[in-house]
Amino acid sequence: MKLILFGAPGAGKGTQASAINEALKIPTISTGNIIREAISKGTEAGLQAKQYTEKGALVPDEVVVKMLSDRISRDDCANGYVLDGFPRTIPQAEALDAMGITIDTVLSLEVDDSAIEERMSGRRVCPCGESYHLKFNPPAKEGVCDKCGAALVQRVDDKAETVRERLRVYHELTEPVKAFYEKRGKLVCVDGNQSVEATTQLIFKALGL
Ligand code: ADP
Ligand code: ADP
Ligand code: ZN
Repeated sequence: MKLILFGAPGAGKGTQASAINEALKIPTISTGNIIREAISKGTEAGLQAKQYTEKGALVPDEVVVKMLSDRISRDDCANGYVLDGFPRTIPQAEALDAMGITIDTVLSLEVDDSAIEERMSGRRVCPCGESYHLKFNPPAKEGVCDKCGAALVQRVDDKAETVRERLRVYHELTEPVKAFYEKRGKLVCVDGNQSVEATTQLIFKALGL
């Protein structure tokens, strides 16, 4: 099973990807997490990416496509995966085609822009990739990841002005990807304005789980 979790920044892609991983036993491939790891390690690709993520801009397609193709060629992706945050442009969607990858379903989490700011301002993340919210999805122990016990942090690009820029970029460059998959009959839109659990139920229903 190869799935794409699509949606605006803060729509809940990472959160829902975790639920799908557990149900389907396939990994999440998050280009955002791959990029943040590359930045923290100071790799060449990370250095290239940093200037873009800090501004809320997209990292150039060729840089992200290379990171993605390296990652999905690893053994744990043999039975499928959930793509979180990729593709984010039409050329990235075309790059998946060029790699000969057939996507089964594109789940688009539809969340009103007005809800995004509160989700982002309360978001706390773990270096392992897990995402929490101070109010809507707190960890069992304050400031500590349920999954791995590491300390939670706030992302530098989650400040309000950068979030506004990321939303603008989403509407301009990323939203057109929906029509790309709709034409192929792959697009399923899910209401993401509800609670984490209610949204998970809608996704499982859409996937026939
Ligand atoms: P969010 O989960 O809030 O949507 P991500 O963690 O997916 O954010 O991405 C964080 C940042 O990493 C993006 O704002 C962008 O700069 C960069 N990025 C992630 N995925 C891509 C991609 N597919 N193409 C270009 N840039 C990307
Ligand atoms: P994305 O990967 O799309 O950027 P995240 O999964 O990181 O989004 O979610 C963004 C923030 O919103 C996080 O703080 C997360 O805990 C919170 N969140 C996710 N889903 C919901 C929901 N259905 N209702 C309220 N908050 C949510
Ligand atoms: Zn963790």
